[in-house]
Amino acid sequence: MTAEALPTPAAPLIPRVSRRRLTGDFLLHVVLQDRVLKRAYPGIMHLLLFVGVTIQVLGTIVNLLQYPLFVPFTIDFFPRGAAYLGFELVMDLAGVAILLGVLMAVFRRLVLRPSYLPSRWDDWVALGLLFLITLLGFVSEGIRLMGVNPAWSAYSPVGAAFAGALQGLALTPAGINTLHQVVFWSHVVTSLALVALIPFTKMRHLITGPLNILARPRLQSGELGTIENIEETEQLGAGKVAEFPTQALLSFDACVQCGRCESVCPATASGMPFSPRQILAGLATTLRTDLVTAGGGHSPATLVGGTFTKEMAWMCTTCGACLRACPLFVDPVSPIVELRRYVTMTTGDVPGSVGEALTQMERRGNPWGLPKENHAPWATELGVRTLQPGEATDVLLFIGCAYGYDARSQKAGRDLALLLQKAGVDFAVLGSAEGCCGETARRLGHEYLFQTMAKQNIETLHGVRFNRILTACAHCYNTLRNEYPHFGGQFEVVHHTELLAELIDQGTLQPGPDSGGKTYAFHDSCYLGRYNEIYQQPRAVMGSVAGLKSVELPRRMENGFCCGGGGGQMWMETDPNTRINHRRLEEVVDQAGADVVVTACPYCLIMMDDAIRSKGVTDAVGVVDLAEILKEHTLP
Ligand code: SF4
Ligand code: SF4
Repeated sequence: MTAEALPTPAAPLIPRVSRRRLTGDFLLHVVLQDRVLKRAYPGIMHLLLFVGVTIQVLGTIVNLLQYPLFVPFTIDFFPRGAAYLGFELVMDLAGVAILLGVLMAVFRRLVLRPSYLPSRWDDWVALGLLFLITLLGFVSEGIRLMGVNPAWSAYSPVGAAFAGALQGLALTPAGINTLHQVVFWSHVVTSLALVALIPFTKMRHLITGPLNILARPRLQSGELGTIENIEETEQLGAGKVAEFPTQALLSFDACVQCGRCESVCPATASGMPFSPRQILAGLATTLRTDLVTAGGGHSPATLVGGTFTKEMAWMCTTCGACLRACPLFVDPVSPIVELRRYVTMTTGDVPGSVGEALTQMERRGNPWGLPKENHAPWATELGVRTLQPGEATDVLLFIGCAYGYDARSQKAGRDLALLLQKAGVDFAVLGSAEGCCGETARRLGHEYLFQTMAKQNIETLHGVRFNRILTACAHCYNTLRNEYPHFGGQFEVVHHTELLAELIDQGTLQPGPDSGGKTYAFHDSCYLGRYNEIYQQPRAVMGSVAGLKSVELPRRMENGFCCGGGGGQMWMETDPNTRINHRRLEEVVDQAGADVVVTACPYCLIMMDDAIRSKGVTDAVGVVDLAEILKEHTLP
C-alpha cells in the first residue's frame, strides 16, 4: 500500500470503548463464536476447525518451548506423567477435529454446494494444507510409536492406529528412522507453508476477523454514520475505494465470502443482480488492485459504474438482515450508503425515480411531493390539538409523511388517533410545523438534505414540551430514536405498537372478541424488529383480541423478510419480475395460509397493498395496520 494512497484515518482504528466491552466482544464473538454457531452445519464445521487448530497450535508451542529454538533458554512446562497422557489424548482429538472439519467443508463445497458459497483457489489451498498437515502429523506420530512402542500408546489412539497400519511395512529400525525424518520434516514444511500463506489467502481472517469485530463502529442499531461538518467537507461519500475510512477497508479485507449475508438478502432472493457478498467482493478486489498491488500510473477504479453497475448501488433496502447474519460483523450497508452519497451529492447521476423523490423532498418537504395542507386531514377532522410553540402535552404524535400523505396509510393514522382519544391519552400533533424526518433522504444518500431536515425538526421539537414522542412509522421511529441524538435531539420515542400494548395492559383499551374468522399474520418491519427489537408488543396487541386467529410467517422476528420498501426502494422504479414485496406476499399466502397480513409500519402497509393489487389477489388476501385491527375490535 503506498503512503500516498493511504486515506487519513479520521478516528482511531479501535473505537474508544471500554476494555470490558472489548474483552466481552472478544470472548463472545471470537472465542465462543456465537454468530458462527447460529447455523448448525457451517457452525459445527468451523468450530471443529477452530478448536482443533487452536489446540494443535498451543500444543505445538508448549512442545517447542522446551527446546532453545527461538530464545537462548528453554521454558519447560512440557507436561510429564499423567499430564502427558492427557496432553497426547487432547492433541490426538484435536487432530481428529481438524480432519472432520475439513471433510465437512469439502462435502459442503462439493456436494451440498449452497448457491451463496463461492469456492476459490485459496479455499482449497487452506483445506488441502490443513488436511495434509494433520495427516502427516498422525503418520509421523504413528511411525514414532511404531519405533518406540510405549505402554501408553493407547493415549494416542489415532497415532497408535497408524502405527498398527504401518507395521505391515515390516521396516527395519533404520528404515523407520528414515521414514520418520521424511514425514516429520514434510509435516514441518507444510505447516510453515500454511503460516506463510496466511497473508495471501482467506486464512488472513484469523487476524482481520477478530480485528474487525473489535474495530467496528459502535453506532446505535439502525443508525447510519454521519458526515461531520458537512458544510465544509469536500468528500461526500466514496467514489473510489481509498475514500473509505480505514476501518471500512479493514472490513472489506476481513470478509471471508461465506455468503451468509447473501443467503438472507431479500434483493438477492428476489432475483435482483445484486448481493451484499458481491459488493464486499468487489470492494475487497478493488482495495487490493488500487491500494496494495497498484504500480505507478495506476488509475484508481471508479466504483459506481465501474467496479459495480450503476444499478447495484440502489438495490439494497437497508433491511439489515446481512448485518445480523455476518459472523465477522462486516457491514455491507454502510459502504452501499457511501456509494449512494457519492452519486447523490457529488456526481448527481442518480436513477430518475430517486432524483424525483429527492427533488420532491427538497421542494415540498416530503417524498410524496404534496403540499402541507394535504398532510393528515384526519387530525383536523378528529379535532386533534395542534401544539403551538411553548405549549405542552403528554404524548406528541409525530405523524410522519406516510400517515400524513398516503391515502391508504391515512386511514391507519386516523384509527390510531381514534384509539388514543378512546383511551383518554393527552396527545397533540405539530401540524404544519412537523417536517419529514429525513429518513428517505439519508438512505438515498442525500446526507445534506437529511441533516437539514433533522436539525429543523429538532429545533421545532425543542420549542414545545412533551413527555414522549409517539410515531406509528418504523422509519420515523428509528430515525428519531437512533439518529436524532447525534444532532442534539435526545427524546423518549415510542412506537404505536408499544403504546397500544401499554394501554391494553393498563386496561385503558379493551378490545372485544373477533368474530370474522379470518387468519392474520404479523409481518415484522425491519426497522421496528431487527433494528429496534420490537417483536413482542405487536403480537401482544393481536393476542389481546379474543378468538383472533393468527399464524406466524416462516421468516419472522430477527429473520424477518423485508417488504421491499426500505432504503428508499419505495420510491424507485423496480423490475416487476424481481419485486421483494411479491416474494413476501407469496410467503404470506402460500406458506402461512393467512387471509390478512398485519403491518406496523406504513412502508410495509403500502408495499404489501401494492403487491396484493399488482398480483390481482385483493379477494384472497388483505393488509391492515395494527392500529386498524385494534380499532376495529375496540371501536366497532
Ligand atoms: S460480509 Fe460477512 S456474511 Fe457476507 S460474505 Fe462477508 S463475511 Fe460472509
Ligand atoms: S441490508 Fe438487506 S437488502 Fe441490503 S444488502 Fe443487506 S440484506 Fe440485502
